[in-house]
Amino acid sequence: MTGPVLAIDVGGTKLAAAVIDPDGEFLARGAVSTPDSSDPDKVTGALRELARGLVDRAPARMLVGLGIGSAGPVDPAAGTVSPVNIPAWRDFPLVETLREVLPGRPAVLAGDGQCMALGEYWRGDRSAGAMLGIVVSTGVGGGLVMGGRVHLGPTGNAGHIGHIVVDIHGDPCACGGRGCVETMASGPAIARWAAEQGRYTGDARALAKAAHRGDRMAQRAFDRAAVALAAGIVSTAALVDLDEVVVGGGVAGAGEALFAPLRDAVEDLAGLGFIRRVRVRPSPLGADAGLLGAAALALAAAGRGDPT
Ligand SMILES: [Zn+2]
Repeated sequence: MTGPVLAIDVGGTKLAAAVIDPDGEFLARGAVSTPDSSDPDKVTGALRELARGLVDRAPARMLVGLGIGSAGPVDPAAGTVSPVNIPAWRDFPLVETLREVLPGRPAVLAGDGQCMALGEYWRGDRSAGAMLGIVVSTGVGGGLVMGGRVHLGPTGNAGHIGHIVVDIHGDPCACGGRGCVETMASGPAIARWAAEQGRYTGDARALAKAAHRGDRMAQRAFDRAAVALAAGIVSTAALVDLDEVVVGGGVAGAGEALFAPLRDAVEDLAGLGFIRRVRVRPSPLGADAGLLGAAALALAAAGRGDPT
């Protein structure tokens, strides 16, 4: 079957949805803030309303599939998600919930970082044989595209770079572990560290502005996040031999406040030649990458083959 698909991107900050055609063009789109609530029905209601709004606007009979990218961990076999940064959802039946909006169509679920990486590969630079996509936002997600295919892993959770341990004596992480990349590099972690240094109360976005104005303490907050990200990147490159790393998500919007120290830290931490050759760059597609990757998976599930 050919035709557009409904793509959904579930994040701790934002819920986004779009109708995307087989060429990767957006035909309709919408987004709402993720309700900050412990009531699962509030989050579910907001997502269902967003998806229904798009299905009502697009000719539903033309939609051939549903692709869902969600903050992890995810369980694609069960169709459930337990996003670290959406505490209201634990083993939440996301696929079943969204199937009600688009019944009778194939539905596929993957991690938001995996979708971001796949979207960057599909609609961005396809020269990389092995690419790591990283989403730095409320949490830190990621995904690996190797040989043109997203690497999901046996449980569907491969690529979770946010939970690579970079400080064995580090702070507890929301995942239950300790010293993860996410404890130092997520937007809230950057803001929390800056606040601990005194006089800073802004979020990561405000800190980025301060860093661009030349505020040294704000810049140090990004320097620290960059070192944690670089440690995760260098470890991943050592393990799977990466060509390229694409970094997106709201915190990547800090631009050079993040990317300058990130390139320096990768240079500093990487030793072996095959690790040092990794290229690190901002996501050219920005927030659209996750939706595009979810659409690519849905198109493949709907029998279009692998669009990448
Ligand atoms: Zn963790």
